Order: sequence, then C-alpha cells, then structure tokens
Amino acid sequence: MYRKALIDLLLDHPMTLYEIAKPLGLRPKDVEDDLRHLQKTLRHEAYRLVIQPAHCQRCGFVFGTEHLHKPGKCPACKGTWIEEPRFEIVGR
Ligand SMILES: [Zn+2]
Repeated sequence: MYRKALIDLLLDHPMTLYEIAKPLGLRPKDVEDDLRHLQKTLRHEAYRLVIQPAHCQRCGFVFGTEHLHKPGKCPACKGTWIEEPRFEIVGR
C-alpha cells in the first residue's frame, strides 16, 4: 500500500519532494498532497511527520513549514540559492 511505502521510505530518513516522488513514479505535486494528508492522518498514530523547512543558503532565512515545495526566491535577500524542505517520519 502506498501510504505504508511512504512511511517506510521516510522513517528516520529525511527526503525532498523530488527524492520521494522519483522511486514511487509520482509527480512532486502528488507527493505534496499525500504528505499533507499523511500529516493529518498520522495525528493519532505511533509516527509523526517532521518537516524541515526550506531555508536560504545565502542569508539563512527560514521559510514557514506551509511551503512543502521549494520556494522560488528568498523574501529577505532575493537570493535563489534555496535549500528545499525535507520530510521525515519519526516515532513518537
Ligand atoms: Zn536570503
């Protein structure tokens, strides 16, 4: 089952949307939707989804975790050297 595969893939192993999508044969946009769903449904389970927010490599600006995909540019320094957000599943 896909949901189980997603949990196995991300358990103690942070990955970007693209890294998750590729082996599963999905588009990053699909993974983004699935992660949002997973975040809600994991609420009462033994695992939780941890989002490492995107950040600017130039000035260190940290984006909010509502950005699941890579932001275009930094609102603080207008730089485009952005580290993508990563997703990890950890046990409670
Ligand atoms: Zn910046």
